[in-house]
Parts: sequence; structure tokens; C-alpha cells
Amino acid sequence: MSNPTGNATDVFADALRRLDTAAEYSSIDPEALARLRVPRAILEVGIPVRMDDGSQQVFTGYRVRYDDTRGPAKGGIRYHPLVSASEVKALAMWMTLKTAVVGVPFGGGKGGVIVDPKSLSRLELERLSRGYMRQIARFVGPNLDVPAPDVYTNAMVMGWMFDEYSRMTGSREPAVITGKPIPLGGSLGREDATGRGAYYVIKEIERQRKWDPSKITVAVQGFGNAGQFVADFLFQDGYKIVAVSDSQGGIYRPQGFDIPSLRQVKNQSRQLEAVYFEGSVREFVDSEHITNEQLLELDVDILIPAALESQITLENAARIKAPILIEVANGPVESAADEVLRQNGILVVPDILANAGGVTVSYFEWVQNRTGDYWTERAVHDRLHEIMSREYQLIHARMEQHDTDMRTAAYGVALDRIGEAIAATGTQRYFNEDDG
Ligand code: NAD
Repeated sequence: MSNPTGNATDVFADALRRLDTAAEYSSIDPEALARLRVPRAILEVGIPVRMDDGSQQVFTGYRVRYDDTRGPAKGGIRYHPLVSASEVKALAMWMTLKTAVVGVPFGGGKGGVIVDPKSLSRLELERLSRGYMRQIARFVGPNLDVPAPDVYTNAMVMGWMFDEYSRMTGSREPAVITGKPIPLGGSLGREDATGRGAYYVIKEIERQRKWDPSKITVAVQGFGNAGQFVADFLFQDGYKIVAVSDSQGGIYRPQGFDIPSLRQVKNQSRQLEAVYFEGSVREFVDSEHITNEQLLELDVDILIPAALESQITLENAARIKAPILIEVANGPVESAADEVLRQNGILVVPDILANAGGVTVSYFEWVQNRTGDYWTERAVHDRLHEIMSREYQLIHARMEQHDTDMRTAAYGVALDRIGEAIAATGTQRYFNEDDG
């Protein structure tokens, strides 16, 4: 992965640095921490795919099972040209922390394929997805490692993979993968869960700070699944979404955008245009074109990076003006930038809390698949709301108590919980105790 300055970042080395720093604020045993510095297993696969023109292309894919002490590994599958082993390991480590932050009985894992999915036809994408599942099938399973969608994968891709796995095992196994289409065993409320979880976190901040939403401006980097939903929920409450962007760049309008119209255009045409829809009539709206870098530096109240990692680095951290940064993407802030943001009084709600709504509802989906008892959408929303609010409040209190930043507090909560699980299997402290 490269950051905005174009420099390659070793994302996993950076993730380890942060882990070590945060561990000082946790009660985790050093032996348990040592276990968390190394993934349990890494699988690298070659996936031969027959292309539409008859040629063969071989893609490289990964699946990392980072830690499964608290439950089966859990984490998405990413399709992106910049996927690397380092990135997948870092994402898998963050999943381990994230499942602990929201207290669901999972460990952490992640997968990825080095591919530009936009360059493939739908049939090629289906063959690639089924081929990837064939290669990782012995490495995943409802009690072992449960994948889900991530960047440039969606419910249909999950459906293909579930189908392929079921064919291979000879039994219908919906709990092998989450984020599936509803008719194939997906959960109501999964599609918008990441954005909704981030929205519930922002509502907690709104309550603490007694905000009037109509006076709060928001910029969202990355207008995909997670970014669109959080923007839409905030818009419905009266927040002013003044800037959004995608991989091609961004648009800015101080008066704010009509988010449902923007979503309609983006999802129909893959373009970001400032358009209002009045019935079937579409009217272009004045907006300024900005770059992704400019978006990050806008003078707004809330900045939401919801695209890729390593967007805020030591180079641009001092220019971030938003007093609140909600990490909907995984790893959008490099560790070197943490201290600059903290010194500038910026509240950073870390990824392992802010975007944990997705994995929480994935857990609900897994439970529903295993029990055969399917929940209403209201039940999903209510339980998600309860978990996100409870964990936000717990982490906020810990941040104040330890006089630290919210990331360190969230890592502290996660490491305590994982540390307790590892300690329950025995550490040196236990084995050296006198038996008598
Ligand atoms: P997505 O594929 O639906 O959307 C990604 C968006 O980012 C697209 O609009 C794309 O155009 C844009 N983008 C790509 N490169 C960009 C760049 N350089 N600058 C600005 N925008 C760029 O993916 P998603 O599922 O919304 O995931 C986005 C982020 O949220 C990722 O970091 C992902 O790991 C994280 N996340 C997603 C989920 C989930 O359930 N979908 C859960 C937790 C975390």
C-alpha cells in the first residue's frame, strides 16, 4: 500500500509498533503479547482463471488466520491491485483486536487477492471468486475461519464463495462466510452495518457534546459501502456533508450535498457528480472538484476516512483541521501521525471501534445461520446499537481515566480481553506456580 506521498508503507510493521505501544496500557501478560505479534497461519495461493478471451491468468491470493483464541478467525476478503502479505497480516491483526473490542466470540483473520476487479468481466470475477474459495477451502470453515466482504467484494461475491464451499464439502454451510445475499442466508441489516455502527458512535459524541447536527460539517473520503451509509445516516439527521470522494477524486460544496441523490448517481454510473433528483429529473449542482488530499485537510467538524489505509501520515497530519476523525476505513492513520493528531487536540475514534459494526452484524449472521432462527431488522439494529454505545462509553471512560488517546484505550480494552483468553490456556506465571 502506498500513502499519499507515494511511499510504500510496511503496514504490518507499523501495526506492530502500535500494538507494542498500546500494550503498555493493558494488563496483558508478556507471553500473550508475544503470541499476538505473530500470525497463527498464512496461506498464499495461486488462482488460475480462464479469461473470456480463452487465455489463462494466474492471480495471487492470501488468507491469514491471525489469532483464534477467543473464537474462529473472522475477517473480510479484499480485491485490490495493492494487496500484499504485509497488508493482509495487518488487517488480520486489527480484526483480532476489533472482535475483542465489541466482545463477539471470534478471533481475527483476513484475505485478499491481488487484482484490479474493475478490469474483469462479471464472469471472470465469478471464476476468480470460486477459484479463490477452492484454494482456501481447507483453511476456512464455520468453526475455523469465517470470511466476509471488504474493499471491492460484496454480497454476490460472498454468495459465489458460499456456493463453491458447499459444493466442495457436499453440505450446505452458510455459516462459512458472512455478508451473503439475504436469500442465501444473509442477515437483515448487514449491508449497512459498518456505516450504521460508525453512525451510532457519532451519536454518542453528539450526546456528549450537545451538538446541533445542522451546524456540524462532515467530509467523507471514500464513497463506497461504508462511506455512503454513514454519510446517509448523518444526512438524514441533518448533518451537513460538504465533501465526498472516491478513487477518482472528490467534490466539495459548503452548503452540503443531498446524499441520496449522490448515492443514486454513484451507484448507477460509478461517477461522483453533484446532482439533485426531483422525481426523475436530474439537475446538476455547482460543486468544486478537489483531490483526496485536499479533502483530508478541509476545515470541517468531522473527517471520515472511509477508503484505504495510510492516508494520514507524518507528512500531512499537522494540516488536518477537523477536531474529530472517525476511522471508518481500516488503518487510515499511520502510527507516526498519532502523536501529531493528539497534540493538536484531535479526537480520533479508532478503526477497531468505529468500523466494528460490520463484524458485529456478521456475528449475528453467523449465529442466525447456525441456529436457523432469523432475526428482524429491528432486532439487528437494536443489538448493534446497544453494543456500539456500550463499548464507546467504556472506551471513552478508559481514555479519560488513563489520560490517553482513544486508540490506546480501545487497544487496552481489546488486549485485556484477548490476554485473559490466552492466560486461561496457561502462561509461564501459571506453570511456574507451586503445585502444592
Ligand atoms: P468499497 O469497495 O465499497 O468502497 C471503497 C471506496 O473507496 C470506493 O468508493 C472507492 O472509489 C474509494 N477509493 C478507493 N481508493 C481510494 C482513494 N485512494 N482515495 C479515495 N477513495 C478511494 O469498500 P468498503 O467496504 O466501503 O470499505 C472501505 C473501508 O472500510 C476499507 O478500509 C475497509 O477495510 C473498511 N471496512 C469495511 C467494512 C465493510 O463491512 N464493508 C467493515 C469494516 C471496515
